[in-house]
Amino acid sequence: SRLNQKPVFARAPVYGEKLAVIDSSDSHSYKQLYCRSLGLANRIGTALNSDFGGLEGKRVSFLCANDASYTVAQWATWMSGGTAVPLYRKHPPAELEYIISDSQTSLLLAADPYTETLEPLAQKLGLPCLKLPPTSDLDALSEEDAQEKETAITDWADLPAMIIYTSGTTGRPKGVLHTHGSVQAMVQCLVSEWAWSRDDVILHTLPLHHVHGVVNKLLCPLWVGATCVMLPEFHPQKVWEMLLSSKAPMVNVFMAVPTIYSKLIQYYDQHFTQPHVKDFVKAVCKERIRLMVSGSAALPLPTLQRWEEITGHTLLERYGMTEIGMALSNPLKGPRVPGAVGLPLPGVEVRIVMNNTINTTIVEGTHKETQVRPGLEGKEGELLVRGPSVFKEYFNKPQETRESFTEDGWFKTGDTAVYKDGVYWIMGRTSVDIIKSGGYKISALDVERHLLAHPDIMDVAVIGAPDATWGQKVTAVVQLKRGKSMTLPELKTWARYCDFQLNNLCFVHCFWSFLINFVSYYAHTNWCCGLFT
Ligand code: ATP
Ligand code: MG
Repeated sequence: SRLNQKPVFARAPVYGEKLAVIDSSDSHSYKQLYCRSLGLANRIGTALNSDFGGLEGKRVSFLCANDASYTVAQWATWMSGGTAVPLYRKHPPAELEYIISDSQTSLLLAADPYTETLEPLAQKLGLPCLKLPPTSDLDALSEEDAQEKETAITDWADLPAMIIYTSGTTGRPKGVLHTHGSVQAMVQCLVSEWAWSRDDVILHTLPLHHVHGVVNKLLCPLWVGATCVMLPEFHPQKVWEMLLSSKAPMVNVFMAVPTIYSKLIQYYDQHFTQPHVKDFVKAVCKERIRLMVSGSAALPLPTLQRWEEITGHTLLERYGMTEIGMALSNPLKGPRVPGAVGLPLPGVEVRIVMNNTINTTIVEGTHKETQVRPGLEGKEGELLVRGPSVFKEYFNKPQETRESFTEDGWFKTGDTAVYKDGVYWIMGRTSVDIIKSGGYKISALDVERHLLAHPDIMDVAVIGAPDATWGQKVTAVVQLKRGKSMTLPELKTWARYCDFQLNNLCFVHCFWSFLINFVSYYAHTNWCCGLFT
């Protein structure tokens, strides 16, 4: 139908008074979010001296808390024909400036507490910055106004919808551009495979500048008219409270990265010690919750097993990436294989090819069937993906875009996979320069470059060391310049200033450059780095 081709906001009037988002300050119905987004779109038009809409071909960067203001900023941008660039409140100013400039943003939106962060940048870059009051205080337009104002856009599919920044093995983070068509493809395959319905209530605890947080946990529920309960940030006690609370609407869907499950388990082990509490936790989780998903990084087997003991739920593990949305998933119904990532989602085509020789296909698979080339059963190779949910391009980086696809249009994920026992398994990465820590993708080279910018640092090697909670811990081996000294706290402060993702960074002081060479050499030959934890 016509509605199916339009972005998610167009469905909101249909869901009307149903609660869309519950955040720490208020509850917001679909109609309220819709009308306030219209109001904001109107203000955007005025701010840019144009009519309602008028953002086609333009980017809007916004900084919001994890609450309803995010949806209003995103919808208003989309209603106006613009491309949404979500910023993250924990990014230091230099990172924000990089993203705003790299995405060639025309307008900044700052939700209530973040004006202080964005206004100096707006001034520096000469950009208009609109301040958003708390969502409930936003001016609203009526639905009747909406019909009048409705933008002239008829073909949404190829229109750029959002740019998400992600680290790669080379250079600074790249802006992954998804069109409305690819966003909807990402949403629709999950809606059908994981059986999203308007009765669902999801607990949202992830950042909103990643596909996991934006698409899987926010756009999917909003697409079907479900309710999203948003916490300002992850806190184990708060999450347990929400999962176990009998206050309506009760949570029945939860999704997180393995680090979060591991932290929830730690909290459980410390605080839920009495047998009747344990029984209560298990009974509530089993009865009320219909789906618990893990992704963004490999789920360690002990985490899966312990979670099953505690809650009675076998976590549904899936595999995805900023560039492709979700590609492989264990089934909603039917056996979930521990350690595996299931089968291709509907519409997704995958291939496993021999390393470096793209022409040798080991495995070819779709949602319906998988074929293995005889004689190559169980062989490992690079995973390639094709389908409507694949991104359009790295924004303004034609060369990087070209290099990330094969000539016949397959996206090269850089992950190695194998097809075995009827399902797909992710084995690792083709490059060790990518570290996955707490679900975050971190470029080792980027961290090295940040550290080398310090005037007292001579040389550095950055590796991912295995860690039970974080998956990998970013580990830097640092050599100082002759005669210089630095304490570890000083070094950490410097690193944190440079890159917010290094909150779990650990350092190894090093005075011999041969050790740096040693680490660099082995890091590039897939050496296990446990020595440095
Ligand atoms: P996702 O939540 O799927 O990771 P994202 O937006 O966080 O979405 P990226 O930050 O681009 O995605 O990270 C994608 C990378 O994460 C993949 O290339 C892969 O290396 C890793 N990854 C994601 N899911 C899994 C999984 N289930 N098992 C192993 N690795 C995974
Ligand atoms: Mg991730």
